[in-house]
Amino acid sequence: MKTKVSSSLYKRACRVMVGGVSSPVRAFRAVGGDPLFISNGHGSKIWDADGNSFVDYVCSWGALILGHADPGVEKEVVAAMSSGTSFGASTELELRLAEKICSTLESVEMVRFVNSGTEATMSALRLARAYTGRSKFVKFDGCYHGHADPFLTQAGSGMATLDLPASSGVTKSSTSDTATLPYNNTEALEEFFANNTDSVAAVIVEPVAGNMGVVPAAGAFLEKARELCTTYGALLIFDEVITGFRVSRTGAQGLYRVKPDLTCLGKIIGGGFPVGAYGGGREVMRLVSPEGPVYQAGTLSGNPIAMAAGLATISALGVDSYGRLEQLSNLLARGIRQEAESAGVNATINRVGSMVGLFLTDHPVTNFAEAKRTNYKMYGKFFWAMLRGGVYLPPSAFETLFVSLVHSEENLQETIEAARKAFMVCAE
Ligand code: PMP
Repeated sequence: MKTKVSSSLYKRACRVMVGGVSSPVRAFRAVGGDPLFISNGHGSKIWDADGNSFVDYVCSWGALILGHADPGVEKEVVAAMSSGTSFGASTELELRLAEKICSTLESVEMVRFVNSGTEATMSALRLARAYTGRSKFVKFDGCYHGHADPFLTQAGSGMATLDLPASSGVTKSSTSDTATLPYNNTEALEEFFANNTDSVAAVIVEPVAGNMGVVPAAGAFLEKARELCTTYGALLIFDEVITGFRVSRTGAQGLYRVKPDLTCLGKIIGGGFPVGAYGGGREVMRLVSPEGPVYQAGTLSGNPIAMAAGLATISALGVDSYGRLEQLSNLLARGIRQEAESAGVNATINRVGSMVGLFLTDHPVTNFAEAKRTNYKMYGKFFWAMLRGGVYLPPSAFETLFVSLVHSEENLQETIEAARKAFMVCAE
């Protein structure tokens, strides 16, 4: 596999862009080697600057459920482009996307568009704090909710202490109301509420975690979170930035039949453009400016090009789409598992719909502590062997493989064949 052009672009990039990238995971630090520079994508495949092609399972970190350069999305985007790219004023496109989201998600009566998942979670938290008049909130170890200060924390020692900053530049005061509890641990959440009966504004959770590899929530865990939030007057926030329109048409809330108070969306609703959204019941959402006192705004929010892409994407997703994704993803997960087994490499595969998580380990993975006890060093070896076999996986063991509607059975067979060889390299 040639990498000369990518490597020379990377060297140039490192002089003018921090780490040569616009977002850290893209630098390949978790798998070693120089990152590839991607020149184009079509359907299920991407091409790098050296002309190598790969079946792509990153799919813009889950945004591209229809694959790259989908003709339907392209058509709507071009039409929107030729009518002007941004007005900083209302358009019918954003209204139509809002109506689509509200008519799909039962828990969402009103929505506010923003430009990223980070903005969505940050604003939802502000809103929950305003609604409840409380400061503390609970998140779970291994979940990622964007890079706003209160979320960038590491768990304090035991449950008595609140969190410490996990990033330089984040002050203690901005994380002092954050509590990080173990994922899928109902007792820890119960205990926290029992010790903080009237000070918790919100519980925020990825209802299928996709940022520690794929770790599904147990149904009972989400149900208990719902019950405790209701009992103690806190808001339940589902961060469905990944899972929204991904694990089912009605997201994880539809799949688990648990109704959150607020939902954060991103990725798929932008069809590959920078979009986020948060929404919920009218009573809560009406606290947002200009109807209420919670300030939140954005120059490019509801951008017509992004709205057109999101609308085209969501409109293309029917009930059949999810059956098809289920079938393809099951085939992929089964194939990879079998190849690992044949090569004598320990692998646990967690899958919810078209979110597939590969952990190189012999034990089940139900929380972050277990995810960290996997052979993530070997993943680097596996990742590069897969690239040589024409398959682009996420460049970190703690991410999700995304299957799109344009991955063909043939693509999956190629991938499973590449995995056979890659596991043999790992077993050496
Ligand atoms: N929440 C979740 C669950 C995410 O996976 C991400 C990003 N991958 C975010 C929030 C932040 O979104 P963004 O990168 O668009 O700011």
